[in-house]
This record gives sequence, structure tokens and C-alpha cells, in this order.
Amino acid sequence: MTNNAPTITRDGVIGQDGSEVVTVDQATGAEFARYSVAGKEEAAAAVAAARSVSGPWWDLGFEGRAEQLRAWRREMAISGEEGVALIHAENGKPLDEARVEVLGILEHVQYAVENAERVLGRRDVPDSPTVPNQRAWVEYQPYGVVGVIGPWNFPLLTPGAILVEAIAAGNAAILKPSQITPGIGEWLVRAWQRAVPDLPDVLQCLNGFGATGQALIESGLNKLAFTGSVATGKTVAAQCAQTLTPVLLELGGKDGVIVAEDADLDEAARHIVWGAMQNTGHGCISLEVAYVVESVHDAFVEKISDLAKQVRAGSDDAAEIGPVPLPTQIPIIREHIRDALDRGATATVGGLDAVGERYVTPTVLVGVSPDALAVTEETFGPTLAVVKVTDTEEAIAHVNGGRYGLGSAVFSRDRGEDIARQLRVGMTSINDALVFSINPAVPFGGRGDSGYGRKQGEEGLREFAYPHSFTAKTGPAQFSATTFGRPAGAMAGALAGVRNRILAESGEKTD
Ligand code: NDP
Repeated sequence: MTNNAPTITRDGVIGQDGSEVVTVDQATGAEFARYSVAGKEEAAAAVAAARSVSGPWWDLGFEGRAEQLRAWRREMAISGEEGVALIHAENGKPLDEARVEVLGILEHVQYAVENAERVLGRRDVPDSPTVPNQRAWVEYQPYGVVGVIGPWNFPLLTPGAILVEAIAAGNAAILKPSQITPGIGEWLVRAWQRAVPDLPDVLQCLNGFGATGQALIESGLNKLAFTGSVATGKTVAAQCAQTLTPVLLELGGKDGVIVAEDADLDEAARHIVWGAMQNTGHGCISLEVAYVVESVHDAFVEKISDLAKQVRAGSDDAAEIGPVPLPTQIPIIREHIRDALDRGATATVGGLDAVGERYVTPTVLVGVSPDALAVTEETFGPTLAVVKVTDTEEAIAHVNGGRYGLGSAVFSRDRGEDIARQLRVGMTSINDALVFSINPAVPFGGRGDSGYGRKQGEEGLREFAYPHSFTAKTGPAQFSATTFGRPAGAMAGALAGVRNRILAESGEKTD
């Protein structure tokens, strides 16, 4: 414990000597809680404890694990408002937005309970005519110990969904939350310990800064799931490469939304203002750039500007968006707005004055150059850049030309699916925004600089298990007891037979 008052650094508020994570209540700026920092020893001990329970956890079988997951869900539901208060305090988002995270995690557990066995249970696969009399099947084995390094923007839902999938797949898991929001990780673990007292170490939490994340990776994880910035994602992937530890990377995004000439503009403006501003724009899938076809551009700008002006930032119950909990984010948002304005954009809402010391209010930038930082780099703030395009072809080219490829949205009455299918991204919502993130059955992840691997859905469950394939002999082999000693000409005959079958399939003449 340090007796010194916490100081504000680029990383937020931390103890003077870095031996503790000290969080602030975002509503007041006052100290909220202290958490001791885990180092290499603690990380090694956590991994060892996790490994020792991973076998018994897997041995429970799907139904046994489902029972424990249901008990965990019950504990989280009972203490839901406590979780909401923690998220509200450490992240700063409005209480109802925090409730969305708690509701979401409960739904994720439900999905895992109902689907883990169907997705990860034993699956028979067809036998092969080349090796007859062999039964073949696949079983999905857990990796063992999964590390989850989480972000601060959705401190419960983002790492929580991954933890649920990892645990439901039969792994033990260790969370390293962001230093900005450690409290909710502790809440998850407390609920687990109450629900599953016989196997408490199946879910653990290690607090600390980047070094704690590094120590966790070095402690012999069998898989890592990382959510955060592209830069740290690359560092983490390089570290994992040293031990060939498989890694899921959920990194940033620069999500584009296309507004076609036949869009319902009222609907588009309503959903896009939410998709861009909710959670103070702190979302890897926040809509950051709207590519709007010129015939509807001005009308769209008018509608979205009217709506954006009404979005209130604050800490009280009436506020729609909270503060910016990561101090280093503020200058990034300011720089993106300044750069867009310098390149000729105008702000119909907000602008440089929207960027305060702790709060940033909505900004809508129009006439933004496609080269501006607000179009090319993740802003992670309540800003929307509007780019006028000739047609949807141009809009598609812009979206596909970026280095990210996470989420997206399309607004069009008649061509939504056609346009969406041409986007090289992980997810697209048609005539709505962000909804793919809310359904636990929908796989979630990106391409390019947005990372690789998937959480959520069947792919999310399989992400945390590896296929173990089996074949079992059920009768005599085709030619001989072993593959040596085949009768002369047997393989030539087999090849000729296959060739003739293929030719016959296309109606060609066979020998
Ligand atoms: P980081 O990528 O730095 O942090 C994400 C997580 O990784 C945190 O838990 C962090 O710990 C941990 N970490 C940091 N360094 C290391 C390391 N070397 N090894 C292992 N773990 C490490 O993101 P920030 O929170 O600093 O946010 C910066 C930017 O990242 C934002 O501006 C935004 O653009 C993007 N971002 C994207 C998110 C997304 O959802 N895709 C989520 C959050 C941020 P600690 O908190 O202690 O530093």
C-alpha cells in the first residue's frame, strides 16, 4: 500500500510507485478504489492454480459445466446493480448503459449454456472410400488455461463474453482488466466464487498495468484473447509468437456506414447518431465515418445534426454519454477534429470547443477529406465524419480501402444486402447500427488491422477449443492388412477408377 496521494499520469490515476492500481470515480474525479498489482509471481501462481482445476472442470462434462454456468448467471443477476454501479463509477458511462453490459453478459451465458454441447460435442464425419471401414469423428478439446486481456470501454461485456465462451468450452480463464476499470473483473470473479465454490480458480482476475499483461502471457498460457489497441495487439501477438501461443486479436476499427440514395433518412440519422455517439464513441464498432450519396447528403446532414445536438454528456441520470475515462484519448479526439477542419471540413455540431478536460460533446464534421485522420484513424470519441460520395460504389471503395475491417452499416431500402455483401469487414448491420454486437449467436471479429479470430456464436465457442480428430478401424482395409504389400496394380486401378468416375460425372467418355 502506498500512503501517497495518487497522481494523474498519461495512463490515468495510479499510485505514486505503481504498486497499486488506483481508480477514480469518473463522476467526481475522486479516488474510487485501490487494487494491488500482480507481478510475475502472482501471474505464475494464477496460471498454476488455473491449470490444476482445468482437468476437473473439463471432467464435469457439458451438462455439469452448464449447471455451474447457470449458478454463475444467477449470482451475476442477483448482484447486477452492484456491477452496474462499478461500471458507472470506473468507466463513467450512464447507469442504463452499464445495465446494457450486465444484461448482455447474462444473455451470453444463456447462449453458451444452450449451445456449447451442440457446437463442441462429438461430431461424426463421413468415412472415406479410399480408407473404408474406418469410423471418423471430431471432439473439441479445451486449450487448458486461457488469458483474457480486456479493455476499459466495455469493461464487462467485452472480456466477459470471451470469458464465458472460454469457460463453457472447458478451459480455466484468467482476466487482466484494463487499469481504468478493474472493479468489474473482481465482481465477475466474486460471483463465480459464490456460484462455484468447489472450483473457484476456474475464473481468476489479475490486476495491474501492461506489465501484468506481459507477465500473464509469459506464464505459460495455452491461449490468449486480447482486446485493445492495434499497437498493443501487435506487441502481444509478437510475444505470443515466441511460445506459439494461439491468440485472438480484437483490435480497433474505423467503421463506415453507407447511406444510399434510397435510404430512409430519418431512420438512418436516428441509428447513426446512436451508433456514433453511444458510449461516448468509445467502441471498436462505433460508426465513425458516414459515406453519404450526394443526392441525399444535405438532407441527411441536417437530420443527423439536429439529433446530435440533443445528445447530452454528463454524469447524471439524464446524460446520454459519459466522460472520457482515458485521459490520453482527449488529445487524440482533438487532433482528429483539428486535422479535419484544417483540411476544409466544417463542424455542424461541436468542433474543437466540444473537447473539454474530461468530457467531449458530440461533433459532426461535414465535407471531410477522405485523407483526414477522422476518416483513416480510430478516433474513439463522439465524432462523426461525413464524406459526400457520388454513388454507393465509391462508398464501398472507401470502406474497403481502409486498413481496418471490423463492423459497418448500410442504409438502403432496396439494396442493403447487395451493398453489405461487397464490404470486406467482419460484420454489417443493414438499416440499423451495432446490433450484431448484441446478439450472442452472431460471430464477432475483424480482418486487417482489426485483428483475427472470432468471439460470439458458434465460431466464438470453437475459438476456445481445438479439434481432436479420431478414426477407429471397424473392418478390413481395402487392399491389405497394412499399406505395404499392396497387390501389384491395385493403386493404378484405384486411380483409374476415380478418374473414370470424375469424367462420368461431367458426361465425358471413360475407358
Ligand atoms: P491498450 O491496447 O494499451 O490496452 C488494452 C489492454 O492491454 C489493457 O488491459 C492494457 O493494460 C493491456 N496492455 C497494455 N500493454 C500491454 C502489454 N505490453 N502486454 C499485455 N497487455 C498490455 O489500449 P488503451 O486502453 O491504452 O487504449 C488505447 C487505444 O486503443 C484507444 O485509444 C482505442 O483507440 C483503442 N482501444 C480499442 C478497444 C477495442 O475495443 N478494440 C478497446 C480499448 C482501446 P492497461 O490498461 O493496464 O494499460
